[in-house]
Amino acid sequence: MSMNVLEESVQQTKDEGPVKGELLSRFQTSKKDFQFETIPVKGYEYVVKIINNKTGLKAIVAVHNTTLGPALGGTRIRAYSGFDEALEDVLRLSKGMTYKSAIVDVGLGGGKSVIIADPHKDKTPELLLSFAEALNILKGRYICAEDVGVTPEDTGIFMRKTKYVVGLPGKSGSGNPAPFTAWGTYRGIQSVVKYLYGTDNLEGKKVAIQGLGQVGLFLCHYLFWAGADLIVTDVHDEKVEKVKKLYGAEYVPPEEIYDVPCDVFAPCALGGTINAKTISRLKCKAVAGCANNQLEKDEDAEFLRKRHILYAPDFVINAGGLLNVTSEIDIDGYTPKVPRLKTHRIYDRLISIYEIAKKNQISTHQAAISLADYRIKYGIGRRVEPPHFHHTTDL
Ligand code: NAD
Repeated sequence: MSMNVLEESVQQTKDEGPVKGELLSRFQTSKKDFQFETIPVKGYEYVVKIINNKTGLKAIVAVHNTTLGPALGGTRIRAYSGFDEALEDVLRLSKGMTYKSAIVDVGLGGGKSVIIADPHKDKTPELLLSFAEALNILKGRYICAEDVGVTPEDTGIFMRKTKYVVGLPGKSGSGNPAPFTAWGTYRGIQSVVKYLYGTDNLEGKKVAIQGLGQVGLFLCHYLFWAGADLIVTDVHDEKVEKVKKLYGAEYVPPEEIYDVPCDVFAPCALGGTINAKTISRLKCKAVAGCANNQLEKDEDAEFLRKRHILYAPDFVINAGGLLNVTSEIDIDGYTPKVPRLKTHRIYDRLISIYEIAKKNQISTHQAAISLADYRIKYGIGRRVEPPHFHHTTDL
């Protein structure tokens, strides 16, 4: 590993061309404050650690794969215990974005970034601006967006120093992704019900929802109006009370949600909730929820299959937010109707995945990964138009 290797970082990018010199001059004023350290990681195109001693920035950008287009993925701000934990997180998340983008056909690759900081204490405009400025070194090979610890207001700060950002506030922005993520999840629930019962009518179907946050709440709304019966849990009582009142939902304490007899269990809170311990407790026919990284380990998908529980792979069912945000870089700019249609079709993609899994006697998770790998291998869905950034920066 080598320190302060701005030059080296630039060299690692695939299509550098004349931009190299331009980048260096752009960084002229503050270049001395930045340190870039490339980290070779097998299977990843480019991983870079970024330090800015003046603003206190400590970040990692991971570009996993750009075969189908520039890598897009959110920026997570978290008080990681250290660099190793942050690296592990960014590698896992960026790879997940490659699969998600490949499957839902957005002409993008997978990437992610993390800033090691407490979002409640350390998040200053200077920190965010310096992160955005550092991103320009990748000249669009990585596009950032909001994630845990980053709000739309923060992306509004990023956009002052970089054009490589989506999920913006204001008129060129796509707004809150949660309603789209929830609609994709709703369609995913319909897909498992269709596959299991031959009809996607949700009337009278029991759906157990873990987590009543931004997505969970919209999901409850859609399910209620489709006639489903809801059993819900959350660690915040006021959220539970709201859903009980609005949708006649039944409540169970958080730890009991795995034992609820139901048609569909929808994890909509944390990652890793589907694991060896919880799978043996599940009394559902299907798992279909929006949470990221639901499986603690890849093998858990096989365990679900053996228990005849149909699993809607998380990175497919929860892609509505990604579909919404990527509409910002369409040539005509953001319009909600385009991602609405694409989000609606998450149903079709999932049905194909269940079929592939069935034919090959593999888990649906494995089927989804194989499908994504196949698309990447043959360049299926590769972006033809460069992304169009419609906002202006201060630069
Ligand atoms: P959120 O933070 O608004 O909601 C999470 C909810 O889960 C909160 O209400 C929280 O109180 C609850 N919760 C936390 N621990 C719990 C527990 N042990 N048991 C029950 N409830 C618990 O987040 P969100 O935006 O609604 O996202 C939910 C999940 O979906 C996350 O995993 C997120 O990464 C994923 N996701 C979200 C989007 C999006 O558009 N927001 C897109 C893709 C994936």
